[in-house]
Amino acid sequence: MAEAKLIDGKAHAASLRQRVGAGVAELVAKGGPKPGLATILVGADPASQVYVRSKGKLAAELGMVNFDHRLGEETSEAKLMALIAKLNADPGVHGILVQLPLPKHIDTGHVLLAVDPAKDVDGFHPFNVGRLASVAPGAPLDFPVPCTPLGASMLLHDVLGSLAGRNAVVIGRSNLVGRPVAQLLLRADCTVTIAHSRTRDLPALSRQADILVVATGRKEFVRGDWIKPGAAVIDVGINRIQTDDGKSRLVGDVAFAEALPVAGYLTPVPGGVGPMTVACLMFNTLQAARRASGLAVVAAD
Ligand code: NAP
Repeated sequence: MAEAKLIDGKAHAASLRQRVGAGVAELVAKGGPKPGLATILVGADPASQVYVRSKGKLAAELGMVNFDHRLGEETSEAKLMALIAKLNADPGVHGILVQLPLPKHIDTGHVLLAVDPAKDVDGFHPFNVGRLASVAPGAPLDFPVPCTPLGASMLLHDVLGSLAGRNAVVIGRSNLVGRPVAQLLLRADCTVTIAHSRTRDLPALSRQADILVVATGRKEFVRGDWIKPGAAVIDVGINRIQTDDGKSRLVGDVAFAEALPVAGYLTPVPGGVGPMTVACLMFNTLQAARRASGLAVVAAD
């Protein structure tokens, strides 16, 4: 059997960014606002600083306005809530991103609830979670959808076209990845099974999947003989491992070398789903600005 076709997430993300940039230019040319993305970072976690910086930089590159808010580690929940209320009321802000994780003294659930659902570009507000859970098959995604799941779904649509009738197995049931991915696949008319740490005989279940999405956070967890020949495998995992030379590298939740001769399509790690996440954040911000201007959203798939 031929080797799997690699799904080039970098190229797909570049094309999505290009679409978003063109969408921003079109909105502004029609007299609409420049989409505004407010990013909030509480504390000085180095990885979070890198993420927030790259999101702000990309927003600016695509013609958006970035409102960068950095708050000290000791910031009270009340002060953070006051900032969110201000951004909710600001018509120049279309998207609000609160970088997670938050310091332990702040209740993340309270904070996510405080963001105006219309500006919730991460798609984590319970209102938007509920909308995704109840969206009709094939109906437009006219509300924000979590970025990584949306990116994974876009990749699948790009390489497979219609997903209707395919057996999909999603390994992982987190609110961040597994559940929203499963909802998106159900909306796309897949027959969806969600697996987790208590699932019995996961290899046999996985072998039934035409589409296998893996989001467990366990390095190289899915082995080659778990994969149905020709299946599309989306590896969401990002795990850093030490190498013999004292350095480190990233690996996914799928044993890549074993999956390659079996799968039909496969996302590499890095360079698969990862680059789609931030591109989808930009997509969500443009969509929010379009909705705020009374315009229809752009089709996500
Ligand atoms: P998470 O919250 O830790 O959830 C992991 C899920 O995997 C849980 O539902 C867990 O089951 C399941 N699981 C763990 N061990 C299992 C096992 N032995 N068999 C079957 N299921 C098992 O992780 P997450 O936030 O969803 O993230 C998953 C991975 O995606 C991580 O590697 C993360 O770094 C990566 N990620 C990547 C991006 C990106 O941009 N590409 C974004 C977000 C996350 P239970 O529910 O039963 O515990």
